[in-house]
Amino acid sequence: MIKLKSREEIELMRQSAQLVSKTLGMLAAEIKPGVTTLYLDQLAETFIRDHQATPGFLGLYDFPNTLCVSVNEQVVHGIPSKKPLVEGDIVSIDCGVLMNGFYGDQAYTFAVGEIAPEVAKLLEVTKESLYLGIKQMKIGNRIGDISHAIQTYTEKHGYGVVRELVGHGLGRKMHESPEVPNYGKRGRGPIIRNGLVIAIEPMINMGTKRVKQLSDGWTIVTADGKPSAHYEHDVAVIDGKTEILSTFDYVDQALEKIK
Ligand code: MG
Ligand code: MG
Repeated sequence: MIKLKSREEIELMRQSAQLVSKTLGMLAAEIKPGVTTLYLDQLAETFIRDHQATPGFLGLYDFPNTLCVSVNEQVVHGIPSKKPLVEGDIVSIDCGVLMNGFYGDQAYTFAVGEIAPEVAKLLEVTKESLYLGIKQMKIGNRIGDISHAIQTYTEKHGYGVVRELVGHGLGRKMHESPEVPNYGKRGRGPIIRNGLVIAIEPMINMGTKRVKQLSDGWTIVTADGKPSAHYEHDVAVIDGKTEILSTFDYVDQALEKIK
């Protein structure tokens, strides 16, 4: 069942989403060769708790950390480790918080130092596909319109759209109805109504769409070992208008400073 939210609830959700956005912005300034993903995880947990919130992933389905950190061919659900990042890596950071009873959930794929041009293109296209999906988030459309927009744009670039993992409704639970796949047909799926809040999150592979899970029980990797990118926003429709509750502004500002 889809739980539609009131304006008041959506304002609380915006605060949760914005805290995740600020956490990603804080991390953006720290990501460089030599840094371990476990260090990033500790920074994020402290930052979130300092803002009177709780890490949203820690303990959720027994996940052991605050961040899902997925490097290179890792798609999502990577576990932070003591292995340092190296120049040329990409690192997808997915972060959730719980504040005032509502979850925020957002992801961004960062470049570590200089990355290969074809990898930079994967990041650019995946991020763009997120915004193309968001453009379809309007009253009267269906979830399939979002899915279709993401799939057609990324496949046009020859990329693989992960099937096994999808976006989702968001609220008092991290994962609510409806599912928001990154592939699908126009005009299909649940109708988009006032009060709907969803996390839209394309997970796009440079090569095959096929993925597998590592023996740690969490990490999802591409089947061909090629890199994968992941961007996520929390998006609401309220009073007939689409509002992106999260933002990449904090990340953009941090990256601009270290340029
Ligand atoms: Mg997420
Ligand atoms: Mg999500």
